[in-house]
Amino acid sequence: MMDKVIGILSKYNLCDSCLGRQFATIEIDLTNREKGHILKAATLMIIYEEIVKGDKEKTSILKNIVATGFKEAGVLYEKICEKKKLEKRECFICKGIMEKCEDLISDILYLEKIYDFDNFLIGNKVPEDILYKEDLIRLEFKLKYGESIKRELNRTFRRILQNKFGKEYNSNNPDIVIIVNWIKGGYEIQVSPLYIYGKYRKYVRGLPQTKWFRKSNLSTYKRSIEEIIGKYFLKITEGVSYKFHGGGREDVDVRTLGNGRPFILEIMYPRKRHLDLKSIEKRINKYANGLIEVFDLKYSSKLMVQRIKKMAEISIKTYHAIIDIEGTISDEDISKIEKTFRNIMIEQWTPLRVIKRRGNKLRKKQVYNIKAKKISESKLDLLIKCQGGLYVKELIHGDNDRTKPNISSVIGKKVVKIELDVVNIEEI
Ligand SMILES: [Zn+2]
Repeated sequence: MMDKVIGILSKYNLCDSCLGRQFATIEIDLTNREKGHILKAATLMIIYEEIVKGDKEKTSILKNIVATGFKEAGVLYEKICEKKKLEKRECFICKGIMEKCEDLISDILYLEKIYDFDNFLIGNKVPEDILYKEDLIRLEFKLKYGESIKRELNRTFRRILQNKFGKEYNSNNPDIVIIVNWIKGGYEIQVSPLYIYGKYRKYVRGLPQTKWFRKSNLSTYKRSIEEIIGKYFLKITEGVSYKFHGGGREDVDVRTLGNGRPFILEIMYPRKRHLDLKSIEKRINKYANGLIEVFDLKYSSKLMVQRIKKMAEISIKTYHAIIDIEGTISDEDISKIEKTFRNIMIEQWTPLRVIKRRGNKLRKKQVYNIKAKKISESKLDLLIKCQGGLYVKELIHGDNDRTKPNISSVIGKKVVKIELDVVNIEEI
């Protein structure tokens, strides 16, 4: 093996790390830099006698080793080469980056002053020619114990930062990813979004869930649920933007009462992650001034976003509706409604009011039961228990029979007004 080392050092100028890395997987508990240093020292001891005798080839290896910055050979070099000064040359493989790691650390440590994070992941972008040159030497000398320079860089940064930050290294779900860019210089960061789960109750009609509605023709809404919740969180976390993920949504004119609707707020590039969710809850509710109420706030994850969306499609929902009928309501109407809508599958074409946005699709959703009560001659009180994702207004008025069966056609009377509340969303 020493023949190979001597061969490498006679031809290439390698720093300690780049030399040692070619023997990284030899299981001796030394860093690559330490291994490289020892191999250079061993080389000099092996060829010492020939150097002293004036062997030109071996003297040139000595010069090469000194040029890599190997200070310990200084005395020998001065004696042989009569104090001629020898400039340090750049490492053939890494061009000096292995020695610049420490310089970058203080820059990276500054991150802690800007971002709140409990754990991190670090990566390195390395120029192609460095990887190529390393491969070239491995092929030329048939080296089989090497590891990649990226691996060494990642490990080096990881070790130093773990110590200095006093934070965990996390390769699965890190709060922050630091990428040292050796191509452009400096480093880049990716900050993972912060996910906050919660539930809301909506106490008023005429408040959209998302500001999306504002871009459509419904331009009269000044506020939305997502803005009330999102803007406050953005301010507190000093994030860049947010996304609101609702576990289903109610129509603008529908209230959500009872046990509330789940949501997850995703905050991009948050600077603060450690939040007092109880006090935020109070502040949002104060700011919402009776329009909505948030509760059960807790830290969540990307996985939960998919989960609450899926749950919204299958969870059992209970609606309370007060409807006005053209004409008068008979006892027979009430029993027809209650008998028909018992464990029945409803076939529903996309409602005309949303067809432009959603496309015409047939959906099948279950109604478990409806409890009907007459309030006055033409007013009915309905408690509808159904599967999530059913368009309840259309179940009531029929949407030109695009929803079958529907309450209006079952009693043969036109529905002229619907006031709807979500009163329970069953958790699964
Ligand atoms: Zn190097």
